[in-house]
Amino acid sequence: MKWDGLIHQYRDFLPDIKDEHIVTLNEGHTPLIKSEDLSQRLGLTVYLKYEGLNPTGSFKDRGMTMAISKAKEKGSQIVMCASTGNTSASAAAYSAKSGSMRCAVIIPDGNIALGKLAQAMIHKAKVIAIKGNFDDALNIVREITENYPVELVNSINPFRIEGQKTGAFEVCDMLGDAPQFHAIPVGNAGNITAYWKGYKEYKAAGKSQQLPQMLGFQAAGAAPIVLGKPVEKPETLATAIRIGNPASWKMAEAARDESGGLIDMVTDDEIIEAYKILASGTGVFVEPASAASVAGLFKLQKQGFFEQHKGANVVCTLTGHGLKDPNNAINNVEKPTVIDGDIKSVLKEIGL
Ligand SMILES: *Cc1c(COP(=O)(O)O)cnc(C)c1O
Repeated sequence: MKWDGLIHQYRDFLPDIKDEHIVTLNEGHTPLIKSEDLSQRLGLTVYLKYEGLNPTGSFKDRGMTMAISKAKEKGSQIVMCASTGNTSASAAAYSAKSGSMRCAVIIPDGNIALGKLAQAMIHKAKVIAIKGNFDDALNIVREITENYPVELVNSINPFRIEGQKTGAFEVCDMLGDAPQFHAIPVGNAGNITAYWKGYKEYKAAGKSQQLPQMLGFQAAGAAPIVLGKPVEKPETLATAIRIGNPASWKMAEAARDESGGLIDMVTDDEIIEAYKILASGTGVFVEPASAASVAGLFKLQKQGFFEQHKGANVVCTLTGHGLKDPNNAINNVEKPTVIDGDIKSVLKEIGL
């Protein structure tokens, strides 16, 4: 199958854009992996939408191809974003691909996974670390982009949501219909908004028959939507969802309520447990924030939420690749033992 990126594939559902303005790294078309292990553990049929396999290693590329293409159409020369890491990695790469745009990113100092920072810098973005959190960074970017000729590419840029909704299209195309449940981590809440929009548009176009219940999960230390108020000092090791005042708050609530779903929270311990189960039981390595969707399913299952839905199709969006945050993986495994370099010692170590 020919794949030239998601704008070419889903043009009929996306804002108009001429070929000459499309900036693409052939993002999208990520695998939908059936997990026998999770299906068995949860009594459901679990599919993993592995967004870590996008060009820069996260789902952010879906929105970025659209936002950067639109910025190119407009003739913008500088794009800017606040980021917990993946948005900056993606914005930097797509700006590089555009051949005509520079990229500036503002990040909270000390709270960016190493891989993401490396990406933004190697793609030659201007990386500015501030003493403050993501919400502070976003406020600065909003202010600057309102007053200077700089294009904002955070998910409050409506073209980001447009691109990201193609994740839902791919799920429907691959499964033949929408699943019964869709589990997804919630940070700034753009992605849950985008998936719900995508599912609704596909159904309205007759491309799918049903709509899923949207199950969103925040980290317990950064759960403003669950608590019903902004969190002043959000804390979680899942840095991609370490957000205290989500930009798409209202739309996430609408996705929850219209779909008859829920938005709940999971602790860092639950996230790490799911993270390890995904890696060791299914062979899929994600960054911690991504595992929040799976941790959420375990939490609901323990509460009996799926009692009436044995075997139902569930899709989990696994938002980013595990290699983004190698330190976190290394901190959560046993270090290799060092032994003598001879066959006998190695055989003994393997238990042969
Ligand atoms: C951005 C991001 C999220 C959160 O998505 P929102 O659209 O901000 O809710 C979750 N996981 C990863 C890996 C991300 O990069």
